[in-house]
Amino acid sequence: MKVAIVGGGVVGLTTALQLQRELRNVQVGVFASDFDRTVSHVAAGIFRVSSSYSGPTEKITREWIQDSYEYYDNIRKTHEASFAGVTSISGYMFANSSSETVKSYWIENLVPVYRRATNEEFQLVGGNWKYGSFFTTLLTDCKLYLPWARRKLQENGAKLEIKKLTSLTELATDWNMIINCTGFGARSLCNDRRLVPIRGQVIKVQAPWLKTFFYGELDTYIIPGFNGMVTLGGSRSFDSENMKLCPHESAAIRERCENFVPALKRATVLREEVGLRPHRENNVRVEAEHITNGSSKAILVHNYGHGGYGVCTAPGTAKYAVTLAKEMHGSSVAKL
Ligand SMILES: Cc1cc2nc3c(=O)[nH]c(=O)nc-3n(C[C@H](O)[C@H](O)[C@H](O)COP(=O)(O)OP(=O)(O)OC[C@H]3O[C@@H](n4cnc5c(N)ncnc54)[C@H](O)[C@@H]3O)c2cc1C
Repeated sequence: MKVAIVGGGVVGLTTALQLQRELRNVQVGVFASDFDRTVSHVAAGIFRVSSSYSGPTEKITREWIQDSYEYYDNIRKTHEASFAGVTSISGYMFANSSSETVKSYWIENLVPVYRRATNEEFQLVGGNWKYGSFFTTLLTDCKLYLPWARRKLQENGAKLEIKKLTSLTELATDWNMIINCTGFGARSLCNDRRLVPIRGQVIKVQAPWLKTFFYGELDTYIIPGFNGMVTLGGSRSFDSENMKLCPHESAAIRERCENFVPALKRATVLREEVGLRPHRENNVRVEAEHITNGSSKAILVHNYGHGGYGVCTAPGTAKYAVTLAKEMHGSSVAKL
């Protein structure tokens, strides 16, 4: 068996790791137009899934989220956690518009702590907030996780290659199976008009004293990561592919975050970044099909469209994609 994974972001590399774990005798190749500048690199990487996130069914979505949490939590418990960029983190979510905003349908019963914020806790930040919750969850910093995953894949024999594909069928001549983890790239590769970019801009600052995350309204978030770096966000522009930094957006992000947590005025700016969240209308696509290229046949499994939740849910969809791949392969072999 030769399996090609297309995509070097969190979804592609996690799927490749899952494949190596489940199918020991396969030759794995990972192809990506870029391994170092992906949307995954921009993400804060917090494990928080909005209620709008969806797989094909409620049951499958819950499975993906549970499997994902378990995957990262298992890494967190090992000596590799700091190399892989996985840690536990606690913090607050505050809102004024509705009590629903501070709830979290998918993770409330999954994470170790999810409770209402106390009156004293409302005083921790600027603003007169009506609703608040405190919870403990996980965080995966892709700037550490992706190189860690690449090392593991290579140690286990996978070949990684920089290659931009214009069609997924071009791999069908050399590979029995192709797993498409191209994120927003799938819009042109699969002609998938349901895939829409949601542009986001963030500021990475150095603020090593901050250990707690904070979410407010208008997409305001403050999320500490590794090595004293904190992500300040954010923005959400539907259907915008503009990769240029907007100085007005940066100024607004800083102002909102500094009003929220005034100590951030002392933070040094490290860099500003833009990313396009690969949002797919209705649901993330994890599906399998048969493809041909001349007389060559291959199985193609899609795994893309994770929107703003791809870091936290990649392991669950990776596991599901590998199960689909195994089932498709099993039924093809049975037919012969
Ligand atoms: C500002 C911001 C904050 C975010 N915060 C969080 C967060 O806190 N938690 C969370 O879970 N998620 C977060 N996200 C969302 C998360 O970043 C994405 O869901 C996730 O990175 C998608 O991963 P991916 O592997 O599908 O795509 P990508 O990381 O974009 O990787 C796609 C890969 O496919 C390759 N590729 C594309 N087209 C081709 C082609 N034609 N040929 C070859 N290779 C190709 C690319 O080179 C790349 O390697 C955030 C996103 C943004 C923008």
